[in-house]
Amino acid sequence: MKITALKTFLMHAEWPGAPLDPAPGASGTRNWLFLKIETDAGITGIGECSGWPRVVETALSDLTPLLVGEDPRNTELIAQKLTIAMMGHGMIGTVGGGALTGIDMALWDIKGKALGVPVWMLLGGKLRDRIPIYSHANTPAQALALKARGIKAIKCGGVGDPVRKFADLREAVGDDVDIAIDLHGPPWLTPADAARVARALEPYDPLWIEDPVAPENLDGYRRIRDAAHVPLAAGERMATIFGERQLIEEDLVDVIQPDTGRAGGFTQMKKIAGMAEAHYIQVAPHSGSLGPVAEYAALHLLASIPNGLILERFDDDWAGRVRTILPHPVARDGFLDVPDAPGLGCDIDEDFVLSRPTRGNVSAPSEKSGSEYLPGTAREHLHVQSRLGRRRYFNA
Ligand SMILES: [Mg+2]
Repeated sequence: MKITALKTFLMHAEWPGAPLDPAPGASGTRNWLFLKIETDAGITGIGECSGWPRVVETALSDLTPLLVGEDPRNTELIAQKLTIAMMGHGMIGTVGGGALTGIDMALWDIKGKALGVPVWMLLGGKLRDRIPIYSHANTPAQALALKARGIKAIKCGGVGDPVRKFADLREAVGDDVDIAIDLHGPPWLTPADAARVARALEPYDPLWIEDPVAPENLDGYRRIRDAAHVPLAAGERMATIFGERQLIEEDLVDVIQPDTGRAGGFTQMKKIAGMAEAHYIQVAPHSGSLGPVAEYAALHLLASIPNGLILERFDDDWAGRVRTILPHPVARDGFLDVPDAPGLGCDIDEDFVLSRPTRGNVSAPSEKSGSEYLPGTAREHLHVQSRLGRRRYFNA
């Protein structure tokens, strides 16, 4: 079997809460990038790439000549070939990671279809038939609505008043719903302040504290880990085993979060999971902002790895998500069923996807949305934040 062509499908998607068709100019900059790899055997594979989708689409067209003529079942050989081909563009960036991921995902889809088995069977078989999910809530009302739908874990975000927000959520949902918190990792907090937030959250038993400082600040992770007895999570902005290596090898996190659309596909994710297993670290793929093909990939991966913890999901995502994917997975009782069809077990509605061309793919926090900046500094758009006004982090 030989690869004959690669086609890309870049679409505009809305964020949760937006209508299917918002008024012009009212919509955001969320993009989903899908690809299809065609073969001379008539089998087609589908994949999804994050990592800056508009840019990754260009990377895919650059890489396509290297794919044509290869046997798509040689997933490791192709991953090695593409990695070394991209070497001159930098080794572990998420753009290259995004391209590698979508291609690898589509190749495993082809391999599964050629053999008539689901991808999880090729990854070592299935440890579980359904995957627990967590969804996002920032207010007690949102959390209670998710709990009423059977969701058993939630995540809140943002660094503004994190302890008080967490305490309010814990009081609302009680002890039988797990709660994680994402501090979103630009250096909003110094390591000292992040450690203090982590210690303040100890009594509320967070499922994890995610990106408490910038993910490249490994010294910060060491300091927080040593100061507080709470699970730490990170890894969504890195790609491949080389990007995730130090977080795992130095036991800086308890939960590793490779992004299902840009960490390098099944070939890399399976290795990352193995490295994590040797350190008793669990895997919770970053998936919430991704499209529905990556979600399928995460289900196959989490079915097959012993240290799979939970999958991120906007359980009330934009209505267009249902229209994009066939079939659309529906959560029941806080779980998604593991697909059983050959390959990934899904396809996109090409007509719907093509009817939603991209309208842009970057944004910066506005003064209105930038509530986590120290008041009066939002216009400065500081990556390394002002350290004034520290009391706002610690209110309980
Ligand atoms: Mg995150």
